[in-house]
Amino acid sequence: MSSSPHPHVAAIGLGTMGEPMAHNLLRAGFPLTVFNRTPSRADALVAAGASWAPSAAAAVAQADRVLVCLPDTPDVRSLFSASGQNLLAQMKRGSVVVDTSTISPRATRELAREAASFGIAWIDAPVSGGPEGAKKGTLAIMCGGEAEAFERALPLLRTLGQSVTYVGGPGHGQIAKATNQVILAGTYQALAEALVMAKKLGADPSRVVQAISGGAARSWVLENRGPNMLRDEYPLGFKVSLHRKDLAIALEEARAAAVAMPLTALVASQEDALIAQGFAEEDVSALGRLTRRAAGLPAGPL
Ligand code: NAD
Repeated sequence: MSSSPHPHVAAIGLGTMGEPMAHNLLRAGFPLTVFNRTPSRADALVAAGASWAPSAAAAVAQADRVLVCLPDTPDVRSLFSASGQNLLAQMKRGSVVVDTSTISPRATRELAREAASFGIAWIDAPVSGGPEGAKKGTLAIMCGGEAEAFERALPLLRTLGQSVTYVGGPGHGQIAKATNQVILAGTYQALAEALVMAKKLGADPSRVVQAISGGAARSWVLENRGPNMLRDEYPLGFKVSLHRKDLAIALEEARAAAVAMPLTALVASQEDALIAQGFAEEDVSALGRLTRRAAGLPAGPL
């Protein structure tokens, strides 16, 4: 094994977010083994010094930390749970899984319990900040799990993100992420409606955005995604399909806790319409498409 002062990391899931995160770990000196379902996603990492493992089981066998970045709850379950590949049974006791995927809080609690039965800690660590944040190492990371394991995972987490917050016990990082996505849902939808309203009332929507950007309606969405809606162009960004997945998680948890979330349900339904119309791969700001169409506005800049 290497003489690095850093723990050995296995990274599984090298997509839009996982690949740049793995690069940051490598640059910071963490010995790194990687695995991804599509092997070519690992080429640049291997060229930069990571070891390729032929299977997820081979990747995690010698690791002290396992960084996971997979799309959805079933993907994470299929690898780690006893009903899937049961990777937990093949990992070192005392190792820590750091799951940066956005998945269900409930499934996370189950996985954390399963992990504990093998002497392994599970930190849920979903992120916000997009591919740009993943590349720059400036993600906001919201963490759940045992506090002691969080402390052990901190050097890795601080390499990936600028704001690393311990929220609470298992699943609490995922609860924070669901909260984040619910707030974003309402903000995007309100912005879409407001810009169409300003246009139909006869004002120049770009001027309106300029006028309100310094006031109480100021937000990251207004500043960074308002221009998309003004231009009627929706480059990524954060995919509609991924945000819809996150709203499904939030709505399922809310239903189980008897919390009514009419606004979130409405935006989820709007996103279903976008997906049905072929816009699943566009940025969430594509919600603007539906409001302008409903108001009878033609395509093109507002
Ligand atoms: P992605 O689809 O680009 O990447 C997922 C990767 O996982 C792919 O390379 C795929 O080949 C791999 N994979 C899937 N199943 C696998 C398996 N069983 N074994 C090994 N590899 C497997 O997704 P992403 O955009 O990187 O998102 C990952 C997670 O991060 C999601 O939960 C998403 O919600 C969250 N997230 C994404 C963003 C974003 O802007 N893209 C921002 C914040 C959070």
